[in-house]
Amino acid sequence: MTTLTAPTQAKSTESANGQKPSVIVSTSPATGRYLGEVPITPLESVPTVMAKARAAQSGWFRAGLRHRIDVLRRIKNALHLNMDLIISTQIAEQGKPPMDALQEFWAAIETFAFYIRRSQETLAPRRVMATLLPHRIYWIERRPYGVVLTITPWNYPLLLSTAPIAAALAAGNTVIWKPSEYATQIAALFTKIMRDAGVPEDVFQTVYGAGDLGAALIKAKPNKISFTGSVPTGRKIAAAAGELLIPCQLELGAKDAAIVLDDADLDRSARGIVWGGLQNAGQACLSIEQVYVARSVMEPFIKIMTEVIEREIKVGPGEAPGVTMGAISTQLQMDVIEGQLADAVAKGAQVIAGGKRLEGGNGRLFPPTLLTKVNPDMKIMRDETFGPILVIIPFDRDDEAVSMSNASPYGLTASVWTRNRARGLAMIDQLEVGHAAVNDHIMSASIPYLPWGGTKDSGYGASRGKEGLIEMTRAQSFSIERFAPLHTEVLWYPYTPQKYNLLRRALRALYAPTIAEKIRLLIGR
Ligand code: NAD
Repeated sequence: MTTLTAPTQAKSTESANGQKPSVIVSTSPATGRYLGEVPITPLESVPTVMAKARAAQSGWFRAGLRHRIDVLRRIKNALHLNMDLIISTQIAEQGKPPMDALQEFWAAIETFAFYIRRSQETLAPRRVMATLLPHRIYWIERRPYGVVLTITPWNYPLLLSTAPIAAALAAGNTVIWKPSEYATQIAALFTKIMRDAGVPEDVFQTVYGAGDLGAALIKAKPNKISFTGSVPTGRKIAAAAGELLIPCQLELGAKDAAIVLDDADLDRSARGIVWGGLQNAGQACLSIEQVYVARSVMEPFIKIMTEVIEREIKVGPGEAPGVTMGAISTQLQMDVIEGQLADAVAKGAQVIAGGKRLEGGNGRLFPPTLLTKVNPDMKIMRDETFGPILVIIPFDRDDEAVSMSNASPYGLTASVWTRNRARGLAMIDQLEVGHAAVNDHIMSASIPYLPWGGTKDSGYGASRGKEGLIEMTRAQSFSIERFAPLHTEVLWYPYTPQKYNLLRRALRALYAPTIAEKIRLLIGR
């Protein structure tokens, strides 16, 4: 492992003189370099933002799905045109190495490609045959909610935003996007790309600010909320949305587990788990944080993991040559990482590798860290770390590993590593998570064809996949008479004893368990 020096990121929405700031200044977390600034959206403008989104929605929906897909295609083309600029902005603002930024770009553009291909069939109206009252025609359409408020975090600012935005727009909603206050340069660039692609200003609006702006937007009553972020913020959003009966989709934190069985290919597993735990410096909701390893292979597995880290990981600013693991994006996150580690060490954990912030620069760099001898009293065993720390825990039986993994309050993703497909399949079948994999971990985040979403404290609802598009719609059903309307209907007034008896007999026959019984009841014997 090599270390490059890097200065500090100084990013804040607070001004020195105590006055309300008017801009968010963005600087690199790895070098401290000034990157740019965006104007903060004043809270007073929230009603206007919401009114514009509402006014534009019907026109956007009525323009038709073909038109909306055409706009998505233009966005995809504009993303393609700006690929290098997007990647360099990601590297600068998030401190990611180029490969991490490239992977995020890939998943984001593929999400647009997916919705361009699949929106038509996913949103197609569906005819329903009704045995009850079959003289009418019935069908179901997926209708947009109206205005979708999308609130997103800083860690994969492009991917996590483009998925709900693409789906919401395809479905005919207008979108108000509040990106993280720690990812405003990439947000400004994506907004410009949307304008270049011809997305009308009121159909897609970006607002800049911190949590207070997000909270004010919820109070302005959007028709649907799509939130990605931490569990504590998710709880606040669900409570505020519940009060106003706004449906919401929550993609929250996690503490994902990888389970290494005694028959695993240790070399491949170690490489996959090191990548799954350290990609984006562990700042991914689905990062592997806990590694359950069969006791019989624990010693060689740790040795191989340590070698992989030594060989593959070079920590430093994302833009520096050869760097494979970037910076910790915010000071808040660094405090969490250091706090959890100190708590674990004080309670008896053993640090096998890493363990101390890298000094010598102004940037926030933390080395890959391996920890053993942990116990359930430690914060690192309960709370999301969101950093480059992997905790290694031995187990003796497969069912014990499954139980320990399922005991987590979170449930986003998990993986099992084995040479035995049947054993792997049997185990992933029991894991209580949104996505479970054999012999891979975070790849599922790059696949827009799969629904993305967790269970338990990791949230509810789905983004991406057909399910993510359905999530941005409500079902509306319709009906019309099949032929000329009847003078009266069977259920209407007048209620007469004859009508009651006739219907009663029909119902008894209709739901009778056998054909013979149906016939007997119909002919009245
Ligand atoms: P965060 O919860 O601090 O902030 C997320 C967003 O919510 C930001 O835009 C923030 O300004 C806004 N916000 C904060 N308080 C708010 C309030 N009261 N009302 C409305 N909006 C408010 O999360 P973060 O630190 O930006 O991101 C890291 C977290 O996100 C981690 O927990 C990570 O696991 C989670 N995450 C989850 C997924 C997933 O798909 N499940 C993906 C990425 C990140």
